[in-house]
Amino acid sequence: MQPSFWEHDAMLTADFIVIGGGIIGLQTALELRERHPKQRIVLLERGLLPAGASSRNAGFACIGSLTEILSDLDAMGEAAVLAMVERRWRGLGRLRQRLGDDAIGYEDLGGFELLTGLDPLQRIGEVNRVLRPLFGQDVFSPDDAGLRASRFGPQIKALVKNPFEGQLHSGRLMRALAQLAAACGIEIHTGAHVAALEEGGGEVRVHIAGERKLTFRAARAAVCTNGITCELLPDVGILPARGQVLVTEPIPGLPWRGAYHLDQGFYYFRNVGERVLLGGGRNLAFETETTTEMALTAVIQSALERLLHEIILPGREVRIEHRWSGVMGFAADKQPIVRLLSDRIALGFGCNGMGVALGADIAAETAALLS
Ligand SMILES: Cc1cc2nc3c(=O)[nH]c(=O)nc-3n(C[C@H](O)[C@H](O)[C@H](O)COP(=O)(O)OP(=O)(O)OC[C@H]3O[C@@H](n4cnc5c(N)ncnc54)[C@H](O)[C@@H]3O)c2cc1C
Repeated sequence: MQPSFWEHDAMLTADFIVIGGGIIGLQTALELRERHPKQRIVLLERGLLPAGASSRNAGFACIGSLTEILSDLDAMGEAAVLAMVERRWRGLGRLRQRLGDDAIGYEDLGGFELLTGLDPLQRIGEVNRVLRPLFGQDVFSPDDAGLRASRFGPQIKALVKNPFEGQLHSGRLMRALAQLAAACGIEIHTGAHVAALEEGGGEVRVHIAGERKLTFRAARAAVCTNGITCELLPDVGILPARGQVLVTEPIPGLPWRGAYHLDQGFYYFRNVGERVLLGGGRNLAFETETTTEMALTAVIQSALERLLHEIILPGREVRIEHRWSGVMGFAADKQPIVRLLSDRIALGFGCNGMGVALGADIAAETAALLS
């Protein structure tokens, strides 16, 4: 079916096209709207609902756990670590300001890390010193009372608290972003799977997969497709990384609240009301999990269940009520990529597994590149 004159003239052309309707794509569109109040902005998302990471994640509003920051300090040095944490912190502030805490179910319950050995505690002072210019106080401190109260398994030797982390409801966040974008006149098309994009003749042409063979045209385009970028633009060096999650039934009397990291961030769990959401374990099968396929595997799901029964809620019978997976994206150096791919096409990729906080900052930079 050919597009009609009307479709061609008024629906398939825009000033800006954003590809990908996750946290970064929607916020890039909103940033473009702030800079260009009168121009037409079209957002193309392949799923009926977002179909990558943003509505399938764990909802941690995190800036980095103690052991993650320690390993980054060793790899990147103090200035780079401070700059990275600052971007996450700034992004989180921007997100909360944009949507409001109620709309996104933001809860200021703190972030925690469970340690099976005491060595990282020796370097708490060093990390706090590096982060003090940003927060004006210590970020990490041992939480012995919290450890006693939470009744984790005996493998856990220490608990470290970070009061600057929080958690939110990822479904409500994505719904609020989509509603705000629509209210700002951003035209969102779901079920629009971009098969290819090309630049030439002073425009970008974005070809949609499917029988209708529609092509959108715009002066500029932003690609915000995260882990699935490897299918559209295989050369930019972003690898997919599947993450698997489970959620339990409500557990009356759950003895802890907040967002918890374990094993350098390879495992994470939090409360959702009285339920436990638990995810991670990608390090058990890196090769299998380097995929865009949203499937579950027995290896990882049973590792998560073991963690639940042996460490998080030892000795309790708990039913699992939800399981799912989502796809993250990773660059080789774990750094964001915000750059022009050509004169009129920008890539906005940033999250490397931690996009809730960082997303707004990456979106602002991506929109600035195109403006
Ligand atoms: C299981 C899991 C748990 C996580 N937990 C957390 C957490 O607790 N805290 C945190 O900060 N981060 C977490 N993350 C990471 C975080 O969700 C991501 O960093 C963030 O959502 C990335 O946002 P994005 O907009 O870049 O990508 P996405 O949300 O992946 O959005 C990309 C969008 O592009 C669309 N798309 C892709 N290709 C095309 C195409 N060809 N045409 C049209 N559309 C296309 C996809 O359908 C998708 O909706 C987690 C991720 C996963 C998978």
